Amino acid sequence: MKNRNSRQSFLGINFDEVMSSVRVGIVGYSGGGSHIGQLLAHYGFMKYFICDPDIFEEVNIHRLIGGRFEDIALKTPKVDIGERVIKGILPDSEVIKAQSKWQECITDPKFLECKVIFAGLDDFATRVQLESFCRAKGIILIDIGMSVKESENRHYSMGQVIMSHPEGPCFKCLDFITDKDLELEATKYGDVGIRQQVASINGTLANTAVTLGVQLLSDWIEDKGVVFYKTYDGNNLDLMNHPKVNECLADGCKCTHFR
Ligand SMILES: [Zn+2]
Repeated sequence: MKNRNSRQSFLGINFDEVMSSVRVGIVGYSGGGSHIGQLLAHYGFMKYFICDPDIFEEVNIHRLIGGRFEDIALKTPKVDIGERVIKGILPDSEVIKAQSKWQECITDPKFLECKVIFAGLDDFATRVQLESFCRAKGIILIDIGMSVKESENRHYSMGQVIMSHPEGPCFKCLDFITDKDLELEATKYGDVGIRQQVASINGTLANTAVTLGVQLLSDWIEDKGVVFYKTYDGNNLDLMNHPKVNECLADGCKCTHFR
């Protein structure tokens, strides 16, 4: 294991220590979360908290990384697949798993220990709740989500990677979640419909989220920002800064929604 990290030494001499001491959280271990778990394990992160209430079903086979055909019949909990993947790469890692909603984990000291939480959630209301929790506890939240939206003329936006840093702008500041979105969602009584999901786009979003997390936790760059919001252009296959980012940077990005 001595040379395990020799090819990622540009991350700084302290990064091995960071990876053995920092706990990372993954809320939602499905299309996005499963990429994140696998990536963090390949980096060498040793402490995890993963939560997801669901079991693996046939509908997950096209996107949940590490899922196997036999998991369908076995009704394997998604968090068990996460543990299997992570421990397959790092047998000595500590994987705390909760087959429950994240709201049931908020008093668990190990969940509170997380320095960064990566989230792949389905709806806006739950995202806002998780954001409030993270900001209150000083946890950095990095959210990814794939959603296919046609803007004009068969031009498609296919999802986002966004950070809510306790010292930076929130989802509302960045126009990611508006009051109108929340109202509209509430009128659908929680029915968010069937979201389109593909493994490769989830992978792009997850790779960027993990690299952002590593950038924040390592000495790779000195100037660590607190503003991050990129959207994925499904036609050109580009991740682009959302227009709100520059606006936020220009006005000092002070959030007035959370204090
Ligand atoms: Zn705000």
